[in-house]
Amino acid sequence: MAKHIFVTGGVTSSLGKGIIAASLAKLLQSRGLNVTIQKLDPYINVDPGTLNPYEHGECYVTEDGAETDLDLGHYERFLNRYTSQANNVTTGRIYLNVIEKERAGAFLGKTVQVIPHITDEIKQHIKNHETIGDYDIIITEIGGTVGDIESLPYLEALRQLRREVGKENCIVIHLTLIPYLKAAKELKTKPTQHSVKELLQAGIQPDILVCRTEHQLPNDLREKLALFCNVDEKSVIEAIDAETIYDVPVLMLKEKLDKIVLKKLNIKNSNEPNLDSWKAFLGKLKNPTKEVRIGLVGKYNELQDAYKSIYETFIHAGAVNECKVQVVPIHSELLDEENIGHKLTDLDGVLVAPGFGARGFAGKLVAIRYVRENKIPFLGICLGMQSAVVEYCRNVLHLHQANSVEVDSETPNPVIDLMPEQKNITLKGGTMRLGSYKCKIVKNSLAHKAYGQTEIAERHRHRYEFNNTYLQQMEASGLMASGKNPDSGLVEIIELKDHPFFIGVQFHPELKSTVENPHPLFISFIKAALQYKQR
Ligand code: GLN
Repeated sequence: MAKHIFVTGGVTSSLGKGIIAASLAKLLQSRGLNVTIQKLDPYINVDPGTLNPYEHGECYVTEDGAETDLDLGHYERFLNRYTSQANNVTTGRIYLNVIEKERAGAFLGKTVQVIPHITDEIKQHIKNHETIGDYDIIITEIGGTVGDIESLPYLEALRQLRREVGKENCIVIHLTLIPYLKAAKELKTKPTQHSVKELLQAGIQPDILVCRTEHQLPNDLREKLALFCNVDEKSVIEAIDAETIYDVPVLMLKEKLDKIVLKKLNIKNSNEPNLDSWKAFLGKLKNPTKEVRIGLVGKYNELQDAYKSIYETFIHAGAVNECKVQVVPIHSELLDEENIGHKLTDLDGVLVAPGFGARGFAGKLVAIRYVRENKIPFLGICLGMQSAVVEYCRNVLHLHQANSVEVDSETPNPVIDLMPEQKNITLKGGTMRLGSYKCKIVKNSLAHKAYGQTEIAERHRHRYEFNNTYLQQMEASGLMASGKNPDSGLVEIIELKDHPFFIGVQFHPELKSTVENPHPLFISFIKAALQYKQR
């Protein structure tokens, strides 16, 4: 039977529950245990697919086409394992399931209530993993902060589950904040005491406290926390602010979080965690011999989380090249013909980001024209690729009104058009072209050189596509479709022939990059940027 670890959060949000959960999972995995992580999100949206990136950061898409929380990206990047729809559930999804069952008559005669119906549905979801895989350990991260009205049903489900399976099979890690008061020069434990009280009110005694802190936790403070929060002293773990999130598994190893967890769960495992390759990555990451500056042209730049996977992929692919990648956010709305040269000075490459809607689109076109004409390495992702097609058709093929139908539904030259299967779709949730699709790459193309193979699969999230009516005209003048879906013929990769590195992809390569498998397209892009810098 799989054992359960729950991770709850106290005092504030944004303490990094996802990183702590992924780091612990990494340590357990590197001891040879089979671990999975899931995230329970307390909001009412059925999934984060309908959320603006400003609300909740990037929407992470899994192989099976689920639109999920960005923490799943961390799980994949740390564990080098795919997640799926099963790894993320929201309150909206839980209620929807229960209400659909009610309509189907599953509870005929009964009053449907939060307890037991909603909590049963939550428990069912948590336990689903026991049948999906042969896991030793299932880590469940409960989103939000203890004390929120929204997370109450999850805490109640956790209390019940723990009662059912026993404490030796189910432990609770509470991630909390120990603030430092500058004026008093003191670390403060009171907020943590209060948040543990909140948990106790829900009937849950945490087993382990992981304490986010800017300063080391002295022993007397650990003792105090242990005493007031009723945990053993060894179970007070320091989570000091790290230089990079990739340090956290090593920091947790030093704090023996893995050992403490195994002991509490009564799991015999005498393997020492093997973090050799992880540490080799960290070594390269921290000792770069070169540096490049890459402009990230997007419209959600105010919030770094909106492009989480892109930033992380630059870290993975930079380390491979022993190269520090300085990502320079550039707001596409602020770009025009006059300022573009100035805005893109000192850059060795430009990535045009994914996105939705017309806002900021014009600026993307200006940026792409500039990098195309000045032979600056370019990578366009999804809307970034679509923008590259529009720019090319306008400025090289002289189809001056060429556009994406998403931006101008009346355009006489819809070079990016709605996919036929999208035309009659009106519902917004989960209806895009989502998840992994195959792509066949043209031999000896730039894409082929990057991937080193001609058959790949990448993840998608879009409604619009390249309009094949314009393919011949486009290829005849030098913009080639170097990757296509073998079944539908949809263009997935475009590249310019007379340019050192100009490539646009309809899919999201950033979603598949991990520490162990940095993405080949980003590796090549950084190489091209290095070459450009040395030109
Ligand atoms: N808005 C575009 C589409 O739906 C691109 C989506 C994206 O960049 N993920 O096709």
